[in-house]
Amino acid sequence: MISTNEAFELIRDSVRPARLQMLPLAESVGCRLAEPIRSDVDSPPHDKSVMDGFAVRSQDIQPGMSELKVIETVVAGGWSEREVGQGQATRIMTGAPLPAGADAVVMIELADVRSDDSGDWVQINIDQMPSGKHRMTQAANFAAGEVVFDARHSIRPIDIGLLAEVGCHSVPTYAKPSVAVLPTGNELVGCEHLPDRGHIRNSNGPMLTAMAESLGLPTTSLGIGRDDPTQLSQLIELGLDHDVFILSGGVSAGMMDLVPGLLKEQGVEQIFHKVKMKPGKPVWFGVRNADDRQTLVFGLPGNPVSSMVGFHLFVRAAIDQMTGGTAGEPESMSCLLASPHQTRGDRPTYWPGRLIKDDQTTRTVEPLAWNGSSDLRALGQADGLIYFSPESHDHPAGETVEFFPL
Ligand code: AMP
Ligand code: MG
Repeated sequence: MISTNEAFELIRDSVRPARLQMLPLAESVGCRLAEPIRSDVDSPPHDKSVMDGFAVRSQDIQPGMSELKVIETVVAGGWSEREVGQGQATRIMTGAPLPAGADAVVMIELADVRSDDSGDWVQINIDQMPSGKHRMTQAANFAAGEVVFDARHSIRPIDIGLLAEVGCHSVPTYAKPSVAVLPTGNELVGCEHLPDRGHIRNSNGPMLTAMAESLGLPTTSLGIGRDDPTQLSQLIELGLDHDVFILSGGVSAGMMDLVPGLLKEQGVEQIFHKVKMKPGKPVWFGVRNADDRQTLVFGLPGNPVSSMVGFHLFVRAAIDQMTGGTAGEPESMSCLLASPHQTRGDRPTYWPGRLIKDDQTTRTVEPLAWNGSSDLRALGQADGLIYFSPESHDHPAGETVEFFPL
């Protein structure tokens, strides 16, 4: 049986990066950039005023009152036609291009305007003006040709402004993989039904679909697969028409665990089966490589918490790798254990835990009462999973543990 780290490595080695997809800017949030993005403009594109006021030559501002002839007005979006000469000023608005000749801006609050037959005059009652005051120089932020985002940057809503500024209206991204979800088991009924004798509701289908959709992936729910080779094979064929195919149930050692065998029959190569972890040990991973498409196939164990952990660790890592990331453990943080906890067995354990939020300096996490991989109720109160290494079975309060937020 392989370790979780070996599983991540195998995923890294077998997953091809997804293809490039050009997306309209507004649809690119959540994707990773497939190429670096360079600006095609200077920012700002010209020397500009950052105040409403008067563009002046700084050397014209002398101790005592300076009076300058107003020769022109320039607003944002406009362009001044006249050079500011000695003894002259141009009325200017925030964002407007600084006129030739001027090297500073006097704020409107420090200026008084008077008019006579010869036009407007501005009186400025300050003793001096440093060159460059309230002026932002062309390309102060970045110049045309500069890289503003590296490849693989993950596009957030706040990045859309800069992408717009540099003219990136069609964004080179890694294509989002399509996902299909197929829970299997003769005992399963839809959640709209009251289960009959021997039956339970299908929790995994809706949960795994929601988890895939929350990653922004187009996700198809294939209904419920029965433990019947003919029906299951037909549904598997549909699932293999996607980039990522997630099954749950039927991957253990029971007589109805048909999934690995049927996947192999349809050309899916097994990469690993069983990972040393609790819950989720029977997890199965394989790939089918066709010329035009690689399908990643995950057979997650049927117990819902096992399925959830398998998705959180491995499906996410694979999707991350396909979309330009690096397949690895999900993010975690170090916490102190709030209460003592005992584990059993020789497998690392992921145990539902709740963050105790009243302490500002150290994060403390409390293991929840949990009945194991079929018990979804503890997850409802959990903020994440506490990792207990198998080296010790007794974990005292105050022990430092890794915590994987969900
Ligand atoms: P299996 O991996 O098929 O052996 O299933 C392991 C356990 O998980 C059994 O108790 C199943 O009834 C249960 N189980 C399987 N699939 C689901 C599902 N979609 N929702 C809830 N429980 C399930
Ligand atoms: Mg089953």
